[in-house]
Formats: sequence, structure tokens, C-alpha cells
Amino acid sequence: MRVVILGAGQAGAWVALTLREAAPEVQITLIGAEALPPYERPPLSKAVLAGADVSTALIRPAEFQAGAGVDLRLGTRALHIDRGARCVHLSQGGPIAYDKLVLATGSAPRRLQVPGAELPHVRVLGDAEDALDLRARLRPGLRVVCLGAGFVGLEFAAMAVRAGAEVTVLDTAARALGRVLPAEVAEVLVARHRAEGVRFAFNVGVTMITPEAVRSTAGDIPADLVLMGIGSRPRTELAEAAGLVCDDGVMTDEFGRASDPDIFAVGDISRHPNPLLGRTIRLESWANAQNQGIAVARALAGGQEPYAELPAFWTEQYDWMVQMAGLPAAHDRLIWRGMPGDRSFLAMQMLGDRVVGAIGFNAARDIRVLRGLILGGRPADVAFLADPTRNLLRYPKDAA
Ligand SMILES: Cc1cc2nc3c(=O)[nH]c(=O)nc-3n(C[C@H](O)[C@H](O)[C@H](O)COP(=O)(O)OP(=O)(O)OC[C@H]3O[C@@H](n4cnc5c(N)ncnc54)[C@H](O)[C@@H]3O)c2cc1C
Repeated sequence: MRVVILGAGQAGAWVALTLREAAPEVQITLIGAEALPPYERPPLSKAVLAGADVSTALIRPAEFQAGAGVDLRLGTRALHIDRGARCVHLSQGGPIAYDKLVLATGSAPRRLQVPGAELPHVRVLGDAEDALDLRARLRPGLRVVCLGAGFVGLEFAAMAVRAGAEVTVLDTAARALGRVLPAEVAEVLVARHRAEGVRFAFNVGVTMITPEAVRSTAGDIPADLVLMGIGSRPRTELAEAAGLVCDDGVMTDEFGRASDPDIFAVGDISRHPNPLLGRTIRLESWANAQNQGIAVARALAGGQEPYAELPAFWTEQYDWMVQMAGLPAAHDRLIWRGMPGDRSFLAMQMLGDRVVGAIGFNAARDIRVLRGLILGGRPADVAFLADPTRNLLRYPKDAA
């Protein structure tokens, strides 16, 4: 069997690595548009901006370098999928035939469509090249405007202000992180940014970018560097042109299989059913890229286990490691354990008497416990959970 994987990012790499172990007889080709071998993106908006070498983000570099069982073709773009002939046309070399095809082309940063968006000081942060370019620009006194108060915008704001830049974050929404965090939790992050010197303006529309400023509904904001952090869109062009069913992502089943049973989609590009949440989701997260990659490789090797994981995400801002467990469609109240200012604290999203989601600040151990609690779906002892003097590792043994 010949498996061709399009996209040599995190998810594609994990499909290749896992499949090679699970089915050594399979011929695996991994096609990547970038020049770099597979790497993880989270460090790009964190350690790499602070000076770390991009090589520290590489995924199993020795194995990919040795080419052990994986035909890795870098600097090569997939241009067209011919489902009839079961082959893919590439930017270099002849068409490549497949028995099974895996789409792992990830997501691309969105760009605001306003006059001036193409100016050289207007950047995005999606790949290693972007991160190195931004790092080279950061300096004390630089006037930085981040468009979008999402995770990438806020992480960049934190790194820029720490580098001595003057940072303003603008968002058209009324608050930060509206799609991903409860308002009270997002406010904790924004308050920390403000304390570090970052300025915020919400409910602000951008009308134009000039070489000196961002022109907005709140007036002109001087800018030497503009970072567009307004989210990403799944790279579904190849799938759509091939006639696969797409809806904000390539629609797949719980094994990653698209509407053509010989084609799979994995990572940021896949919209898949999550049996734990009872709905389809598309995730842009490190944990999903790796774990769905592993699950899809096992399915390709003949496995029967559906991909079913509680969504997880993390972000690092200043000295806070913020981890999220669960992705509740709704919650009716928030319970705090500890408070901002404590070394470690967290917020639990409740629906009735169940914990359905949790956001921890420097609380990795507690988040692990809460993942189990969310998955268990049993009524929670709120008094215990909210009391930071009680050890969560002993829950529910010690609960009343
Ligand atoms: C700056 C940044 C910070 C992040 N921080 C966090 C974090 O803190 N925590 C977290 O959980 N998640 C984070 N994420 C998200 C996480 O990195 C992604 O969810 C993950 O990388 C998705 O993996 P993927 O393999 O689907 O896509 P990618 O890793 O993006 O890989 C896709 C690859 O496909 C290639 N490609 C695209 N089109 C083609 C084509 N036609 N032919 C060949 N190759 C192609 C691309 O060049 C790319 O190399 C971050 C993402 C970014 C960009």
C-alpha cells in the first residue's frame, strides 16, 4: 500500500511516524511546501521570538533526517488531487500515485482586507519564517499594533512588550478571546497585559494601514509594526477542488476519513465528530495535531478505534502557563479555585452540577485531575473543588 501525506507539519509528521511503526510494509511519502522538516508551531510565538533556535522546535529531526521509512519531499507543494487517477500533481517531479491520501495542510493566518494590508511592516505569524522575521524587527521603543486579541496576538503582545516595544492590541469585538474563553477569565489575562504595559482598544474597526499608523474607528494609532492575529482558515482548497465535502474544514468521520473513503484529513484542516462532546469540531491545537495524527495512522494500519479525546489547548503569556481542558458549548457558571495573584489558580466551567471545562493558570497537576472529572461527568463537590487548601489529587476520595 502506498500512503501519501500532503503537509509535512505536526499532524502529517505524526501520521508518518506512527504509520511507519504500525505498518512497516506501507510505503509512506510526506510532501511539505516548506523547506524545513516537520516542526511544532507553538514555540514560534514564544521561545523562538525570545531567541531560541528554530531547530529546537523540530519533530524527531534525527529520524526524518535519516529518512527511515519515510520519503520526505520538502519544498514541494501539492497542486491538484486527481481522484479518478488516484494521484497528486506536485510543484516539482511527476504526479505521485496513492492508495490512501492524507490531507494535513493545516491552516493559514487570515489577513484583514484593508488598504495598506500589503505594506511590508504588516505581518502575520504562521510559520518559522514569519517568526524569524518578527524577531528581527522587535526592539525597544518599536510601536507595535496587534490586530486581534486572540491567542497569537496576545502571545506576540507579551513577547513584544517584554522586548521593550510599545504595544497596542485592537479588536473589533467587545472583549478578548471571545470564541475560546469565558469573559471573566479573558479579563484576567487582559488585566495582566495591562499591568505589563500593553494597551487595549475593543469595539474598534480598522479602515486602513499607512506606513506610519493604523487608521481605526478610534483614530490613528502610530505603528512601526502591525501583526495581524485575526485567526486562521483551514487550507481546504485542494480538498474543495477535488470535490470533497468541506464546511470550515474537510468533513471527516471519527477515523479521519473524508467523503472519499481513500482520503483522510487530520490536524487543523479536519472537522471531525467528537463523541465526548456530541458534536463536530475543528481544532487548531498542538494536542489535536499530534493525537489525531496518531489515531488516523492507526486507522490506516487497520485499527478500529475512533479518535475521541477531550480537547486541550495551552498558551504561555509572561510567567503564566494557561491550560484549557474541554470545549463546552455552554456553561452556566464559573467556579474559581484560588485567584489571580496566587502562584497557581484556575476556573471551572459548570453546567448544572457538572464540571464541563477548566482553565488553569500554572496549574498543570490540577488540570490533569479536572480532565478526569470532566470525562467522568459525575456531579461535583463544588465546595471541595473551590477550596485551594484542599488537595485535588485526593478528590473525590476526600469529598463530602
Ligand atoms: C504561532 C502559533 C502558535 C501556536 N501556539 C499554540 C499553543 O500554544 N498551543 C496549542 O495547543 N496550539 C498552538 N498552535 C496551533 C498548533 O501549532 C497547530 O494546531 C498545529 O500546528 C496544527 O498542525 P497541522 O499539521 O494541522 O498544521 P501545520 O503544523 O500548520 O502544518 C501544515 C503544513 O502543511 C504545509 N502545506 C500547506 N499546503 C500545502 C500544499 N499544498 N502542499 C504541501 N504542503 C502544504 C504547510 O506549509 C505546513 O508546513 C499555534 C499555532 C501557531 C501558528
